[in-house]
Amino acid sequence: VKTLGILGNGQLGQMLADSIAEQTDLAVNLYDLRAYDETSLQEFLASNDRISYETENIPAHIVAQMESVEAKIFPNLTSLKTFQNRITEKNALRAAGIATADFHAVNCLADIHDAIAQLGLPIIMKTTTEGYDGKGQFVLRQTEDAQACWDDIGHRELIAEAFVPFIREISVIGSRSENGEIKVWPMTENIHHEGILRYSLYPAHGFSVEKQAIAQRYIEQIATNLDYVGTITLELFEIEDNLIANEVAPRVHNSGHWSIEGAFTSQFRNHMLAVTGQEITSTESRFPATAMINVISDEGPTSAASNMTETYVHSYGKEARPARKLGHVTITAKDTAERDAKISQLEGLIPAGVWQK
Ligand code: ATP
Ligand code: MG
Ligand code: MG
Repeated sequence: VKTLGILGNGQLGQMLADSIAEQTDLAVNLYDLRAYDETSLQEFLASNDRISYETENIPAHIVAQMESVEAKIFPNLTSLKTFQNRITEKNALRAAGIATADFHAVNCLADIHDAIAQLGLPIIMKTTTEGYDGKGQFVLRQTEDAQACWDDIGHRELIAEAFVPFIREISVIGSRSENGEIKVWPMTENIHHEGILRYSLYPAHGFSVEKQAIAQRYIEQIATNLDYVGTITLELFEIEDNLIANEVAPRVHNSGHWSIEGAFTSQFRNHMLAVTGQEITSTESRFPATAMINVISDEGPTSAASNMTETYVHSYGKEARPARKLGHVTITAKDTAERDAKISQLEGLIPAGVWQK
């Protein structure tokens, strides 16, 4: 493989390209999906030996064009399509033996009432496609809200999900190579605020070897079932004695950014190695504790981070806009106490009350 094309040129595409920059016999080309036109896309698909993508939110007319070069798409198109829709996604997870919330497909107002009868309340209602950062969701708390829910996000296919009373949110990321080898990073705890990931911690609070093993098994089962090649992310809800899958990202994930400095091989690099047909390498962490803090819009004095030791500031070179991810800061530490003390020094990056709430 001499040329790899990546659909999408945001920060994930950039970090993917950066992760393998030293491999000078591999040219990585990024395609700006927002500047799409049929001719330029056809040209891009034809001119690269292999094609990958930094996002699953690829419109159907573009996916249709990708069909013609299906054999060079990594991860494969079946995986992309499966994880573009929350219903096919949950069915695939269940088929792979992975626990999910109970759910019900909703295509009209009457279906919402069926969902309430079947799942009880509250229900998390979501559009089946295109949602991210909590957009396209409605928390249905009482039967009387059914109409308001349908008017707000409905008039299109929805999924009703039983509410999972989770202890904390976790994600696990793994990479699978063409020869079927799978390597999995240690899972992280993820803290959200207003629908957006704010920070990820390794190790997670209440880290347990048993739960890491479940997470690892889940990744292996879903990736193997789909003959998936590349980096894959599973967002999970931790409950008392199990992990419940929330959603899959068929790509590198914000909660894995810590791996650039924190692991022997980053989530980006193993993705690039896998999709170009190479062997993947160690996902072990290099430090006892790490944290990744997102810089959202212009909230943060990232300058505060630049004079702290073992602290790495990544800036995506984007203009500030409300709720926009502009960069992230990674902290490595000798233990969780040191890590948490360092995060406290960067509290300005995290909205009040969200750090150690
Ligand atoms: P992302 O930005 O991670 O892609 P998204 O818009 O695809 O987010 P989800 O991850 O499905 O949305 O949901 C957003 C958040 O809503 C979750 O992180 C979790 O906090 C909450 N949530 C979603 N589904 C459930 C559920 N079934 N039970 C309880 N909480 C839920
Ligand atoms: Mg999502
Ligand atoms: Mg999510």
